[in-house]
Amino acid sequence: MGEFDLIARYFTRPVRRAALGVGDDCALLRVEAGMQLAVSSDMLVAGRHFFEDVDPRHLGHKSLAVNLSDLAASGAKPLAFTLALSLPSVDEHWLQGFSQGLLALADQHGCELVGGDTTQGPLNICITIFGEVPPGQALLRSGARVGDDIWVSGTLGDARLALDAMLGKVHLPPDLFKVARQRLECPTPRVALGLALRGIASSALDVSDGLLGDLSHILKQSLAGAEIDAEAVLQTMQARQSGLSLPDDLWCQCVLAGGDDYELAFTAPAGAREHVLAAAHSAQTRVTRIGRVTEGQGIRLVDARGQPLARQRWNSFDHFA
Ligand code: ADP
Ligand code: MG
Repeated sequence: MGEFDLIARYFTRPVRRAALGVGDDCALLRVEAGMQLAVSSDMLVAGRHFFEDVDPRHLGHKSLAVNLSDLAASGAKPLAFTLALSLPSVDEHWLQGFSQGLLALADQHGCELVGGDTTQGPLNICITIFGEVPPGQALLRSGARVGDDIWVSGTLGDARLALDAMLGKVHLPPDLFKVARQRLECPTPRVALGLALRGIASSALDVSDGLLGDLSHILKQSLAGAEIDAEAVLQTMQARQSGLSLPDDLWCQCVLAGGDDYELAFTAPAGAREHVLAAAHSAQTRVTRIGRVTEGQGIRLVDARGQPLARQRWNSFDHFA
């Protein structure tokens, strides 16, 4: 099968919202008058971001999910995406699974595949996604104010625990491994929550490299510090509820610096708690209040009684560190 048959067979579908999809030099997107276009790219490299033998259906899902997660963090509504794919060879079983996982999630969010590029080379997947947001309503990293609450959506840490299990660093009972692996391989982008938080959250980002590191991006851009209740964050982790016994340091590493969570971390004024909870309810997404924005710089971790915890080496992921 050649390059163009491959594109026609696995990545070409009739477009609905876009004016022109796959098949010409450019796709043409219809953008509603007065809206801003939100754009983001994410690259997934075999051996770096995923195991080469991962279920291709899950990989297709995750490749788009991490991009949808960026739109969610900006409060943008998904429109369309392009797919740049480098493949070692034409493996139809792989292409079938990958495209199904990818397009099923795309359909869930009404986000159309409108173009891309296909080359032979090491397995590498790069998606650029387009969304729309009314001017002035995008959620930014820079809007947190001293006194705001800090919230996270969903559950943190389980993806990292699954990765540690796959690398043989911890042993998990099979049912727990299954749950954690699902979080690693099939994250749920919080698009509905991001949309519901427009006008409520003062800042937001998605947690991809680990909570503390990602939160520090909000704090730097907002010129503030934070106090985080470590126990409140630990309670979000699904594996934590299972009675599994692990060293404290490992729990903290997973939850505070694990990465691959694709949850939203956001701030909102303390007076907006009811609105945050209503937004979460409407988006059918759990949210947990984990701390507050403070004067100064950096993150102070405290226990449930507000006593400071020693900050350990819970470094977030950095490709070049
Ligand atoms: P060009 O050489 O003009 O950049 P190509 O010949 O590479 O275009 O691609 C032909 C068409 O197929 C284009 O419309 C391009 O957007 C689309 N395309 C290529 N690869 C993919 C892919 N992996 N997924 C979706 N569309 C693709
Ligand atoms: Mg061209």
